[in-house]
Amino acid sequence: MRWLFVLGMCLGLAGLKAQTAKTPFTRAELAHLRVQTPGLFKGRKQVTIRLDSLGGKDFCFPLLGSKVISAYGSRGGRHTGYDLKTKANDTIRSVFAGIVRMSKPYAAYGNIIVIRHADGLESVYSHQSKNLVQCGDTVYAGQAIGLTGRTGRATTEHLHLEFRVNGQHFNPNMVLDFKKHCLKKCKLLVNRTDKGISVKQDITEN
Ligand SMILES: [Zn+2]
Repeated sequence: MRWLFVLGMCLGLAGLKAQTAKTPFTRAELAHLRVQTPGLFKGRKQVTIRLDSLGGKDFCFPLLGSKVISAYGSRGGRHTGYDLKTKANDTIRSVFAGIVRMSKPYAAYGNIIVIRHADGLESVYSHQSKNLVQCGDTVYAGQAIGLTGRTGRATTEHLHLEFRVNGQHFNPNMVLDFKKHCLKKCKLLVNRTDKGISVKQDITEN
C-alpha cells in the first residue's frame, strides 16, 4: 500500500511539472491578473506595440454585432474595461494571436481569460458562461475562446473586455474603434512611470 502511495505521489508531481512546463509563465503570472511581465522593460523604458503593422487576418473584433453598454472609466472612473452586449452564450473571439495566460474563475471577474500577445500586450475577457480555451493554449486572431455569460459580479450577460500591459489596464479605445468594430491602426508607445505605465497613441506614418 505504501508503495502505491509513493507511486501516486510521484505521478502527481510529474503531472504538476508537466502542467507548469506547458506554459512560458511564472507561478505569479498563472495565479494573478495584475502582475508585472518579467523582463518586459529590461534595458528599455519604452515598449512599442505595432498595431499599424497588422493585416486583416491578424485582428478580430471580440464580439461581433455587439453594442457598448459601459465604457472605460465609467462608474466614477472605476470601470477598468468596456462592456459589450449581444445575447447569452454568444461567441467571444480572441482579438489577436497569442498564448492563454489564465483561464479560470477569478473573483468578481467570474470566468476570466487573459491572453498574452506580442510586445507584452494582454487582452482580458470576463464573465463567460464557459471558457473554451485552457491556460497555455496558443490561439489565433478570431478563434472562439468563450461564451458570453454573467459569472462573477455582473447584472446581465455581457463581455467585459480589458487591455493591459505589465498588469496595468488602459483605455481599450486606444486599440479598438467600438463604433466601427475595427482596429486603430497606430503604434502604442508604452512608457514606464513611477505609478506603473502610461500609454500614448502614435499615428505618424513611416
Ligand atoms: Zn465591465
